[in-house]
Amino acid sequence: MEKIIVQCQGKPYFQGLDDHISEETGGFVDGANLPLNSPARSSPHSQGSEVTERYSRKVFVGGLPPDIDEDEITTSFRRFGPLVVDWPHKAESKSYFPPKGYAFLLFQDEGSVQQLIEACITDEEKLYLCVSSPTIKDKPVQIRPWRLADADFVLDASMPLDPRKTVFVGGVPRPLKAVELAMIMDRLYGGVCYAGIDTDPELKYPKGAGRVAFANQQSYIAAISARFVQLQHGDIDKRVEVKPYVLDDQMCDECQGQRCGGKFAPFFCANVTCLQYYCEHCWATIHSRPGREYHKPLVKEGADRPRAVPFRWC
Ligand SMILES: [Zn+2]
Ligand SMILES: [Zn+2]
Repeated sequence: MEKIIVQCQGKPYFQGLDDHISEETGGFVDGANLPLNSPARSSPHSQGSEVTERYSRKVFVGGLPPDIDEDEITTSFRRFGPLVVDWPHKAESKSYFPPKGYAFLLFQDEGSVQQLIEACITDEEKLYLCVSSPTIKDKPVQIRPWRLADADFVLDASMPLDPRKTVFVGGVPRPLKAVELAMIMDRLYGGVCYAGIDTDPELKYPKGAGRVAFANQQSYIAAISARFVQLQHGDIDKRVEVKPYVLDDQMCDECQGQRCGGKFAPFFCANVTCLQYYCEHCWATIHSRPGREYHKPLVKEGADRPRAVPFRWC
C-alpha cells in the first residue's frame, strides 16, 4: 500500500476510499458465502482470504476529537458494519463522550475490521482514519486492531512447553505482542521458548496478562525471583509483575497424592528452596521446618492469576 502522510484536511481521501471500500464489500460478501471447506477459508495465508478470521472484533481507536459522542463515533464507523462503542467504565460514568479520547469499537463481524483496516491510511506503521466531530473536521484518529496471530509466539519449537517452567506476567500493556514479550524476557533471562498473551474467549482481545515458558530452570527461577520486570519496547515502558504460573491439576510433589486422597495439590510454593506443589498436609509438614515458616502458598485463582493466600495452621 502506498504510504500517505496523515493529513486529511482538504484532501479528497474519502472519495477514493469509498470507491475502494464498495469494491471490497462486494468481494467480501461473495467470499462469506463460500463453503466451509473452500480453499479461501482453509488457507489463512492466501491472497484475498478476507473470510479467514485474522483480527479481534474489538478495535482500539485513539486520539478522538474531544467533543465526539458515542452516537457520532458509531456513525463514523457504521459503514464497515454493525458495531457497539465502548470505553472503560462507560456504564458507571454515564458519559456521552469517551473521557480520555479513546474508545473500543466492538464489531459484530470480523470482516468489518478487515474493511476498516483497508480504509485506513498508514503512517510509520500506524493506521489512521479521518473522523469528524461537530467542531473538528476530518481529524486523523489512530486505529489499532489486534491480530489474532500476535497472541502466541514460539521462539524455540524444539523445547517441550513445561508449565512448571512457565511464568505469569500481569499488567502487560495491551498493544504488546507475544513476539515482543518473548524477546524482552529472553533478553532479560534467556532460555525463552514460548510467550502467549491472554485474550478473552469471546472477542479474543488481550486481557492485559501473559505467559512466558522457559526451556531451563535457571531462567525460570531468575524470572520469578525478580518479581517485577521493566517491559521496554517502542513507546512502552512499564513495570509488570512476574509470578510462577500456577496450575490446578498437579499432584503433591511430596506424597504424590498419598496423604490427600489422590486430590490435586491446592498450593504451590514459589520460594526457590521449594518450587513444588503441596497438599495441605505436606505444606504444613514441610513448612514447619526452620527457615520455611515464612513461605507463602500460591493458589490458582479463577482466570490464571496466581495470588498469595494467608495460610491457616491447624
Ligand atoms: Zn502431599
Ligand atoms: Zn516453601
